[in-house]
Amino acid sequence: MQKKELICNSCGKRIVSESGIIRENVCEVTQEWGYFSSKDGEVHSFTLCESCYDEIIKKFKLPVTIREKTEWMTESYHVSSLTMETDGAWEE
Ligand SMILES: [Zn+2]
Repeated sequence: MQKKELICNSCGKRIVSESGIIRENVCEVTQEWGYFSSKDGEVHSFTLCESCYDEIIKKFKLPVTIREKTEWMTESYHVSSLTMETDGAWEE
């Protein structure tokens, strides 16, 4: 496994990961600027640590859209959750 290291673009904090798993939540943004922007064809990306992300969204006039994530780790838990509702217990 390669060690991946992210650096917060805002404060310069290093966000280290072990075995490719990042232990802290980070905000990774990639923006592909399109034809009608002045940055036509450029792909911009940056990383923010959680505290810088909080600082930045505080400056927004409108709050970010927040919704509850209902399917955690779908890839690893997909199979086991599928097998749970097969015995017809709800039918009387
Ligand atoms: Zn930061």
